[in-house]
Amino acid sequence: KSTLSEVTMKGRVLTAHGGFYEVLTEGGLYTCRLRGKNKRGEQIAVAGDWVLIEPSKKAEGTIESIYPRKNALHRPSLSNIDQLIILSALQDPEVDFLLVDRLLVIAHYHQIRPLLVFNKADLTADLTAIQTYYRDSYPVFRISARDRLGVEGLLDELSGKTTAIAGQSGVGKSTLINALTGSDDQATASVSDKLKRGRHTTRTTRFIPFESGFIVDTPGFNMLHLPKDLEGRDLSHYYPDFMDQADGCQYRDCLHINEPVCGVKTAVHSGILSDKRYQNYCTLLSELE
Ligand code: GDP
Ligand code: ZN
Repeated sequence: KSTLSEVTMKGRVLTAHGGFYEVLTEGGLYTCRLRGKNKRGEQIAVAGDWVLIEPSKKAEGTIESIYPRKNALHRPSLSNIDQLIILSALQDPEVDFLLVDRLLVIAHYHQIRPLLVFNKADLTADLTAIQTYYRDSYPVFRISARDRLGVEGLLDELSGKTTAIAGQSGVGKSTLINALTGSDDQATASVSDKLKRGRHTTRTTRFIPFESGFIVDTPGFNMLHLPKDLEGRDLSHYYPDFMDQADGCQYRDCLHINEPVCGVKTAVHSGILSDKRYQNYCTLLSELE
């Protein structure tokens, strides 16, 4: 009787592709399938899931069960995200504030801590546009991924956490992921080598073990839609700067559009809130209607 089959191990799904799951356990990386019994109605595992696997032979096994998720996103499918780095560049390309706000809403909705990171600080030190837009509502990290400037400060925020990275193309996402998970970290390097040699030729979501946490490389994250269950009247709840002004609204479920007495609109008119951020809020609101 095999003793191996009686052992289950906890692990994390690093990638999920075509019914195969790369699961990292304390015993290394296992290529797994879902248990055959998994019938309709049972959960399909996604990248980021914590799972129990039963190893069948060296480096192969079966996913027996999926632990409850802290949160789950769709298209791309991934779970158990603590933080989201919303990466922009200070220049080349220009900041896409509408995309950043969309990602902020998605993060807040899923109880993911957003980190606003601005790359290419070697090109300019000018933060005026960003400060005009967000005022002091969010802490801002300024880095140069290419020159590894400011990256140390970011590292402190990542340790022990699962952090996804999103941003429009060209902002330096790949450069940052390489700067963070580059060759110095042996554990990371060996796992990502194995993943590269695996069956994944197309780019899929990858969880990369890093600093006792994980970095999540998510191609397509910038295509995310607003959450399906999000209602227009709740949108501003995910704008901490708007909520600070909403005491001045006459109605509790104020949309901050046509209502005559509105603290948010007053704050926009008096310059406490950015007009551009408000216009982008109106754009996102119209998507929900
Ligand atoms: P991605 O599309 O977001 O993955 O962006 P890449 O990492 O491919 O970078 C896009 C371009 O920006 C490349 O030409 C990089 O060399 C450049 N780049 C990345 N980081 C920096 C940086 O910190 N400073 C400067 N000046 N260029 C950078
Ligand atoms: Zn209002």
